[in-house]
Amino acid sequence: MKKPSDHMASAHLWVVATPIGNLEDMPPRAVAVLQQVDAIAAEDTRHSGRLLQHFGIHTPLLAYHDHNEQAQAGKLVQRMLAGERLALISDAGTPLVSDPGYRLVAEARAAGLTVSAVPGPSAAVLALSISGLPVERFAFAGFPPSKGQTRQQWFKALAESGQTEVLYESSHRIASALEAIESVYGADHPVFLARELTKLHETTRLAPVAELRRWLEEDPQQRKGEFVLVLPAKPRQTGLEPRDQQWLEALKEHLPPGQLARVVAKVTGMKKKEVYGLF
Ligand code: SAM
Repeated sequence: MKKPSDHMASAHLWVVATPIGNLEDMPPRAVAVLQQVDAIAAEDTRHSGRLLQHFGIHTPLLAYHDHNEQAQAGKLVQRMLAGERLALISDAGTPLVSDPGYRLVAEARAAGLTVSAVPGPSAAVLALSISGLPVERFAFAGFPPSKGQTRQQWFKALAESGQTEVLYESSHRIASALEAIESVYGADHPVFLARELTKLHETTRLAPVAELRRWLEEDPQQRKGEFVLVLPAKPRQTGLEPRDQQWLEALKEHLPPGQLARVVAKVTGMKKKEVYGLF
C-alpha cells in the first residue's frame, strides 16, 4: 500500500475533506497530507486553525474564500508551479461542494499541475446514503436562492426534474423551504430531513412534507442547526390507475423499453407512441 508521503511530489494541489461535525471523522490520510504540504488554503483560517491544532498540524494557513478567490487562485498556482505542495480545505466537508475552490482547481489543472483528493465527509452524500430514498440517480441542487420569485421558481424547477434531489438549507429558511416544497410537490410528498449530521443533536426523519412542517412548528429545537433535504422525484402525471402504474414500474426493471411499450399499449389500448411518454 502507498503511504501518503509516496505521493508528496512537488507542484501538487491536494483537495482535502474534513469532518462535518464529528472530529472523529477526520480521515487519517487528511492528517498526514495536511502535515506534509507547504501551506494550506482555507476558507476561514481561524476556524480551520482550531481543527489543525486539534490534530497537531502546524502547516501555515492561507485565506482562500469567495471574496479573494479570483486574486488568490492565480497566486497559489504560481507557488505550485514554483514547486510548492498546497492543500485546500473548507470549513467543513468536501471543498467545492457549496464551498470555495472551483477556480483554484480549474486553474491548477489548466496550468498542468497534478490535483488529487483526500476523500471524506460530505453532508449531501451522507444524507443520501441514509435517506431510504431511491439514489441510483440524483441531482445535487446546493442552496436555494434566499428569497423572492427566483426562490419559488427554483423549487418549481426541482419538482419538474424527475429525479431525486438533494439540497442544503440554513436554519433561518428551513421552514420556508418546506413550505415551498409542499406547494410544488404536494402535502403528501415524502421528504428526508437530516439535521446536525454526525453531531450530538443529529436528527433524521423521512415523512410527508406537511408532517415535517408540523413537527418543526411544534418543536423549535428542530429548526436549529444545519440541514440537508432529500426529495424523491415527483411522480409523473401518467393518467394511469395507481395499480397500473405499479405494474408499469415493476415491468420497467425487466423489459427493454420497446417491449414494455408494446405490452402496455396492448393492455391499455393506448398508442405505442403515447405509451413512451409514461416512462
Ligand atoms: N462542503 C460541505 C459538504 O461537503 O457537505 C458543505 C458546505 S455548505 C457551505 C454548508 C451546508 O451544508 C450547511 O448549511 C448545511 O446545509 C449542510 N451541512 C453541513 N454540515 C452538515 C451537518 N453536519 N448536518 C446537516 N447538514 C450539514
